[in-house]
Amino acid sequence: MADADVIVIGSGFGGAVTACRLAMAGASVIVLERGRQWDVNNFPRKPGDPWIWDDVHPERRNGWFDMRVFPFMTVAQGAGVGGGSLVYANISVEAKPDTFDSGWPAEITCDGLAPHYAEVGRMMEVKPVPANQWPERTRLLRDAAVKVGWGDRFRQLGLAVRFDPAWIYEQDDAHNHDKSRPETNIHGVEQGTCVHLGECDLGCPVKARNTLDFNYLAVARKHGARILPLHLVRDIKTTPAGYEVRTDILGGPAVVSHVFTAPMVIVAAGSLGSTELLLKSRASGGLANVSARLGMGWSSNGDFLTPAIHPFRDVRPSRGPTITAAIDLLDGVYKGQAIFVEDGGLPNVAQDALQRASEQPQQDEFMKHAVGTLLPALGSIDLLRRVMPWFAQSRDAADGRFSLKNGRLFLDWKIAASEKTIDAVASVHRKLASETGGLPLTPLPWTIGRTLITPHPLGGCNMGTSAADGVVDGHGEVFGHPGLFVADGAIVPKAIGLNPSRTIAALAEHIASGIVAQR
Ligand SMILES: Cc1cc2nc3c(=O)[nH]c(=O)nc-3n(C[C@H](O)[C@H](O)[C@H](O)COP(=O)(O)OP(=O)(O)OC[C@H]3O[C@@H](n4cnc5c(N)ncnc54)[C@H](O)[C@@H]3O)c2cc1C
Ligand code: SF4
Repeated sequence: MADADVIVIGSGFGGAVTACRLAMAGASVIVLERGRQWDVNNFPRKPGDPWIWDDVHPERRNGWFDMRVFPFMTVAQGAGVGGGSLVYANISVEAKPDTFDSGWPAEITCDGLAPHYAEVGRMMEVKPVPANQWPERTRLLRDAAVKVGWGDRFRQLGLAVRFDPAWIYEQDDAHNHDKSRPETNIHGVEQGTCVHLGECDLGCPVKARNTLDFNYLAVARKHGARILPLHLVRDIKTTPAGYEVRTDILGGPAVVSHVFTAPMVIVAAGSLGSTELLLKSRASGGLANVSARLGMGWSSNGDFLTPAIHPFRDVRPSRGPTITAAIDLLDGVYKGQAIFVEDGGLPNVAQDALQRASEQPQQDEFMKHAVGTLLPALGSIDLLRRVMPWFAQSRDAADGRFSLKNGRLFLDWKIAASEKTIDAVASVHRKLASETGGLPLTPLPWTIGRTLITPHPLGGCNMGTSAADGVVDGHGEVFGHPGLFVADGAIVPKAIGLNPSRTIAALAEHIASGIVAQR
């Protein structure tokens, strides 16, 4: 007998949504999640805490961030129950309608996704920062937009964060945790309200962020879903009755291998995780029919960050939610490139770590990147108060390609077709920073090495109309493997040009509703 009706691999946006909807529809659901179950008592904060997920030795280091370094591209991801929602900057925004004009199968349209976008917003209780709580970064972004004649393009963004309308910056001890108001969310889970601590990417100590463990996953659990942390899936194999999922169970004195079975499997391990799992399973013969398109069409979503020193502004990047607003240039008004500029934040803990890291030689590639980028600004911690991290997404060429090299995931990323786009992003950052009295510091890894870092990986198991142009169909089902679905960022076939989690969740709602209708 099978272990469950459905096995979901991964508990990020795609996994949480599908697990929730299928459990609500009465299916028995097991969620296998490689990372830990985190909470306010164990978020990493100090040196020596479990910060890093080590892809080579996950049994030794199964921490908060998974940084994958490939030639010319580093990818940042979360690991744990809640996936990318644990580490993300809370921005929940719909893709522009023109995103769906081409490159998608007929089942995916802007109108068709509209109710799913709305439902994700409701489930995650998305709303903008209240007008009386704007951090200085939001004002700087708006001022920059007005200065260059783009005032009408300034937008506040929706955040999956709880705010207390009565909280203001102008009060004694404003950021004290006691100023967070306890409240129960629409799913019956106890949370708190935001006191602008600016630690969003590291886990909110007052539970103000509406991460997936507080909504979709909580509802899935209520409907009987079993969510198993530290369960790292290694391989998927077809059987006459469905699928076998070979899993390493971490966390004990030794790794234990276990095989779970189900007639239906939903792979939701993220752009890198799902692609890697299908590549390995195809290579081992377990999923022999997967399309030859597997691994192709990967995008970094055109992400780029430019720190700028604003000597006469108390920017305080460590105050307030990590991102709050945008200047919308997605219609190509700047150099013909689709760009979405945002403010960025920098947690205090990160400031401290960068300061320490700058004082010693770095072996770790990620720290080298981070220090290389911010080093010029690190004259003193006080100077960091005046740094604005100008962030942006854009529409790159989505021509990266994953394969396996010596049994590990490898990304072949070439900048040629995307170089003009990223140059335009760097240029608009310089323009906006300079116009507001800032000194932009375009990151050296870009200017010298054409090397990028992205937190928004998209594609690898792209949606298509047949196995000739995609890996999954318009309902997320893998061509050649009935009952096997991919429902996460891996199926997105192109750059969205803005923060992608709401679109990934809406696509997962679409896939789940298709499966429920079939059942
Ligand atoms: C620092 C940072 C800030 C961000 N800010 C924003 C933002 O503000 N707004 C926004 O829209 N997006 C943001 N993102 C991006 C967002 O987090 C991702 O787009 C989103 O999480 C992708 O959803 P997903 O379902 O594809 O994968 P994920 O959310 O990454 O979920 C995949 C899950 O699968 C698990 N997994 C992987 N491999 C295996 C395996 N073999 N076995 C078992 N489990 C596995 C992972 O641990 C993870 O929990 C940010 C990302 C980062 C890193
Ligand atoms: S700014 Fe601070 S209090 Fe507000 S959501 Fe982020 S971490 Fe929580």
